Amino acid sequence: MFDKRQRGATLMEVLVVVAIVGIISSMAITRIQNVSAADSDGSTQREQWERAACLFNLSITQSSTEYFAVFNGSYPTAPDDLYPHYLDRVPNCPAQATEYLYDEYHIIQCVHHQRKK
Ligand SMILES: [Zn+2]
Repeated sequence: MFDKRQRGATLMEVLVVVAIVGIISSMAITRIQNVSAADSDGSTQREQWERAACLFNLSITQSSTEYFAVFNGSYPTAPDDLYPHYLDRVPNCPAQATEYLYDEYHIIQCVHHQRKK
């Protein structure tokens, strides 16, 4: 009689342990999915890094463009004009190594990344 109750309790303990292991493993799988999955806008970590680097390049190139305009009295026709006096290299997008372009307001643009307004 006593032995049977002990077995019943052991079975209950096993079920509890199985349930806990199930909960823990489901949490671990969720974490792994979050690391490898894309962000809410569908971009991977590499794409996010490239976007951040590109926006940094755009910011520096725009500043150099304004310096160019102040010192020369007119805006550069292409970002290449900033090299070598205003930038130490021709600016481009790290994602595809594509060169930047100016829009009609002399604002530097990347064909891959848009700055938030
Ligand atoms: Zn870009």
